[in-house]
Amino acid sequence: MITVTSPLLPPLEEFQKLLQDIWQRKWITNNGHYHQELEKALAEYLGVPYISLFTNGTLPLITALQALRITGEVITTPYSFVATTHSIWWNGIKPVFVDVDPVTGNLAPDKIEAAITPQTTAIMPVHVYGTPCDTDRIQAIADKYGLKVIYDAAHAFGVRVNGESVLKAGDISTLSFHATKTYNTIEGGALVCSDAALKQRIDYLKNFGFAGETEVVAPGINSKMDEVRSAYGLLSLKYVDSAIATRKAVAEQYRAALRGVPGLRIMEDVPGVTHNYSYFPIFVNASEYGETRDELYFRLQKHNILGRRYFYPLISTFSTYRGLPSATASNLPVATRMANEVICLPLHHELRQEEINSIINLILHR
Ligand SMILES: *Cc1c(COP(=O)(O)O)cnc(C)c1O
Repeated sequence: MITVTSPLLPPLEEFQKLLQDIWQRKWITNNGHYHQELEKALAEYLGVPYISLFTNGTLPLITALQALRITGEVITTPYSFVATTHSIWWNGIKPVFVDVDPVTGNLAPDKIEAAITPQTTAIMPVHVYGTPCDTDRIQAIADKYGLKVIYDAAHAFGVRVNGESVLKAGDISTLSFHATKTYNTIEGGALVCSDAALKQRIDYLKNFGFAGETEVVAPGINSKMDEVRSAYGLLSLKYVDSAIATRKAVAEQYRAALRGVPGLRIMEDVPGVTHNYSYFPIFVNASEYGETRDELYFRLQKHNILGRRYFYPLISTFSTYRGLPSATASNLPVATRMANEVICLPLHHELRQEEINSIINLILHR
């Protein structure tokens, strides 16, 4: 079975040593030694001023909206993992879907302004597959209308634009360290911001709103990362660069083999961007390729190759959201087409050469 991804696991012997240390310290959660060490190490690795660890990648999205006191309507993309829109819904805010750019799959800046109403307070874009959004244009729109920007950067671990972390864009960026992501802490996530006071408020919010032993300053939640996963994350960080380098080599093989195949579109690296090679999406145009996306998807599955249709179906088609005025396919033609054409091919640090070859052969010989 060739799966779409494989978790980056740190060496067990090294992890056991850290576990012994945690057992000796007898401090297993609540801003312990490894939690503090991982926050420091990640801020340095990512090149960002402030980072707060979370227990997964969904709670920092929910907390970001709370921290910035977002209300009313938030403009977002339907072409993402469902947690993006759920975080808006969980705050009692109305999501407003805007179509995406046909090249990147990211929220299309030229469609945002038409969706702004007096109730709009923020924009929540996603760096889909780790390709940076047009952060300058989005910021210009946000500044013009007085809106906050929260990036769901779950795919953008380590991504840089001209040497600067893409996580510095907007008011807040959030990360997921789920097992399926390029860098994982089994479950886990983080929130990045550039303001010490905001980081402080977020740290209160992720710990029930406690600002001291007896003082609660906000209706917070519990989304703290524990010591075991923080230690695991500290170890994984030592291996993530080599995992990304291996992923890059696989992506380059896929590109060399699939570039120019009639009816297939692939994504290329963007000049000036340091990519993390989290995903390798291909887009199948049925009439030119000679097979529909689903025909190819299930043919690969028959050969035990498990791609994933990220992101299909669109979030806007799920029962919670499909009644919204912005959720119609006619409002979202580009996202609808991409969702119907996409397959993410297996891409991880342990793919073997014969596995890569057989995936490529099956796609070429339809
Ligand atoms: C994985 C992911 C999330 C959610 O992260 P979890 O850690 O699974 O809660 C949110 N948004 C996007 C785009 C994701 O890919």
